[in-house]
Amino acid sequence: MLTIDSNCDTVASHRRSACNMPPLMASPACDVLARLARAHFRVATVLITLSDSQGQCLLAADGTLPDALPPDLFASSLQMGTGLDTIVVLDTLTDQRFCIDWQGVPVRLPRFLAACALGDASGNYLGALYLLDDVFLTLDELGRAFLRDLAVLAAQALVRAQEETALCNRIAELEAAQELATLAMTGSGTGIWDRNVVTGEIHYSSAWKAILGYEPHELSNQVEDAYLRLHPDDLEHVKATMQAHFESRTDSYSVEHRIRCKDGTYKWICSRGKVVSRDLDGRARRMVGTTTDITAAREIATQLQKSVGLITNLTDQVPGLVFQYEESLDGRGFFSYASDGIRDIYELMPEQVAHSSHPVEARIDPRDLAMYRQSLLESATKLTPWHLEYRVRLPRQGLQWRQGDARPRRLPDGSTLWHGFIMDLTERKRIEAELHELATIDHLTQLPNRRHFMNQSEAELVRVQRRESQDAAVLMFDLDHFKAINDRWGHALGDLALIHFAKLLCLEVRPADIVGRLGGEEFAVVLPSTDIEAAVAFGQRVQRRATETPLIDGDNRVAIAVSIGIDNMRVTDVGAYQALARADKALYLAKEWGRNRIEIYHE
Ligand code: GH3
Ligand code: MG
Ligand code: MG
Repeated sequence: MLTIDSNCDTVASHRRSACNMPPLMASPACDVLARLARAHFRVATVLITLSDSQGQCLLAADGTLPDALPPDLFASSLQMGTGLDTIVVLDTLTDQRFCIDWQGVPVRLPRFLAACALGDASGNYLGALYLLDDVFLTLDELGRAFLRDLAVLAAQALVRAQEETALCNRIAELEAAQELATLAMTGSGTGIWDRNVVTGEIHYSSAWKAILGYEPHELSNQVEDAYLRLHPDDLEHVKATMQAHFESRTDSYSVEHRIRCKDGTYKWICSRGKVVSRDLDGRARRMVGTTTDITAAREIATQLQKSVGLITNLTDQVPGLVFQYEESLDGRGFFSYASDGIRDIYELMPEQVAHSSHPVEARIDPRDLAMYRQSLLESATKLTPWHLEYRVRLPRQGLQWRQGDARPRRLPDGSTLWHGFIMDLTERKRIEAELHELATIDHLTQLPNRRHFMNQSEAELVRVQRRESQDAAVLMFDLDHFKAINDRWGHALGDLALIHFAKLLCLEVRPADIVGRLGGEEFAVVLPSTDIEAAVAFGQRVQRRATETPLIDGDNRVAIAVSIGIDNMRVTDVGAYQALARADKALYLAKEWGRNRIEIYHE
């Protein structure tokens, strides 16, 4: 046995170890009550215990501690809150419940045991107050009444202790949360300020001062000094924003501005706050808020803005349209980005195509629209680069050529995104056409030149060989005595005579016929699907026109005669030149036999 007083450590360790209950705060009031009870009843031991569904544990004790706690006499009978004032007095020697076996060792409790249950205001059973002594004692009515009174006080002390414990736990939780919040705020570069609007005092958290590079004990708490730290360019805006909130014109105060640090440099901060107390007239009395260092964020934003500006400037300088075009699976498209070049390329504004590509499609030449759509569809389906030369019809520029190039990318939702470029192709197309003309058209007569005539003739020979067309006739023309015309009328008039004959020739040919100036005063015609007889008739018509329509130049009448040689293309011909050579042989005979004649080639 161990004799203790209620202040000794052993009780405290009993409090924790005698049962599995969560740690309970020591109750000094219960300790006093235990001492009082022992002094009054002159017993060896007084115990105050706590009970719950987990079991029983010791809260306070005075005197000699028994080897074990008595069994919980009230646990089963008083759970329902009845008979809380019951006092049990018994002789443990005669009661089987007290034959306690503690891990195989018999434990003896003092012989005398008096107990009174403890209950809270709602009648819930909390624990018990025990008197223990080796000598069996009697307890008269007065003694029982006193024990009951002590039990009521103990119960109240116990409830208070429980409430205090709960409160302490809550405070500990709040402190932990507060610590976390402080850590988070400090870590994120956020400080707190608290301003007394009436006195002009302002208090800053250590984290707030740290943002500006000050120690916790530095900085005045006068609002005037705070304004001195503001960047002069921001002062007016900050004051106006603050005033608006003081006058309840805004729900809260939020402003970004520069503030001077201890080392004289400026930082960008975001200050947010709210008036938390106003007087009866609505005047602000107290305002609290946070300050966050946004220097780094602003620097990134500035850099980003610069990059965006740079890209926009660059793309706007490019003579063409730089674009980002998005098309969903159902074929609806819009230009998520269009550079300034869209004004020239489509005579549209970027905003007009930001939600729909219809304005662009309305500008595309109807002849090329289907091809335009098909090319985009193919690029989207196969994810192959988009390339297209197409025509547009613009209100100001009229018919123009455009060339588009873009690379597609599939987006997670299945739509397609192109990044690309559209440029003006009109000038190139014009030069190409000019070059084509130079390469294919005879400058003087505007007829196809020898090369172009030969190319077209080769194509016709292929058709003949494939039996797609039959009996293509070849006619060679050579103006008679042309040298004499030059000699008599001059070279310039000779030129006019060549032009004149070319026109006469063109009056006779059909669209499918091939005509050309082979050189000098030599011309040739291929008549597809024409037999020799029809070719002769054609030649005669040309000769008649030439005779009937002399070149009139002022008072001069220049008669033109032409000799003609004819043959047809043959399936066995290796090239168009063979039929031409045969017609030329016939022409030679026509010259030989008097000129202004038509001769057909014979083997
Ligand atoms: P023939 O009846 O035998 O064909 O006699 P020809 O005088 O027509 O034939 P020749 O081949 O002797 O002369 C052709 C002339 O055509 C010679 C050349 O100066 C002239 N000639 C060739 N090209 C041009 C041209 O572009 N303009 C002019 N004005 N004359 C040309
Ligand atoms: Mg000639
Ligand atoms: Mg001639």
